[in-house]
Amino acid sequence: MKLTAEALQQALLNTADQIEQQKDELTDLDREIGDGDHGINMSRGFQAVKKELQGKDPFEDLGELSKLVGMTLIKTVGGASGPLFGTVFVKFASKWNGKETVEGDQLYHGFREAVEGVAARGKSQTGQKTMLDVWEPFTEALMGEEPLETVIENALADTKELKATKGRASYFGDATKGVQDPGALSSSILLRQIAEVLNG
Ligand code: ADP
Ligand code: MG
Repeated sequence: MKLTAEALQQALLNTADQIEQQKDELTDLDREIGDGDHGINMSRGFQAVKKELQGKDPFEDLGELSKLVGMTLIKTVGGASGPLFGTVFVKFASKWNGKETVEGDQLYHGFREAVEGVAARGKSQTGQKTMLDVWEPFTEALMGEEPLETVIENALADTKELKATKGRASYFGDATKGVQDPGALSSSILLRQIAEVLNG
């Protein structure tokens, strides 16, 4: 598995389109166990990313691309999730600066840094029913044998059954069990697109 700057750029454009398709679903979930803005937040952020990336020459530096995406998401997404998704890409940039392609350990360490960054920023950990419950198993799977698509599916299914103990959803207590976490779903949309370019 390897990730090139051009492939990540394509995955991000695909994510922007997929977020539009699932925007209402994301917002509906956040209406059930949050404040009903997650689809709107993610749409705003990824449409801004699309605008930044479209019509540009293919990026040759994963660091430059990741930094631009991270700053754009931080500026535009808002909510709790904006700084968290932004952190993911800022951390990618810190590990992949100047690199056109990453694979193996380098690929893994970028994701590892991103997960640690989200946990630090959110003062959160896995098992609390947040986006981390998808990012963490995906990251570990980069070093494993299981197909990434399966890992994402299983992570989503497991996260759905958890009780939220972090973020706005935690105020809904037991009512969160059996409802998908909106940030886990939006993370899965992005990670599926990344998995696709990693495999392809
Ligand atoms: P807000 O909660 O401010 O309305 P969003 O609705 O955009 O922000 O995003 C909510 C999502 O953010 C949640 O579904 C969860 O996945 C994620 N999230 C919220 N707080 C945290 C945190 N402290 N750590 C990790 N993820 C979090
Ligand atoms: Mg919300």
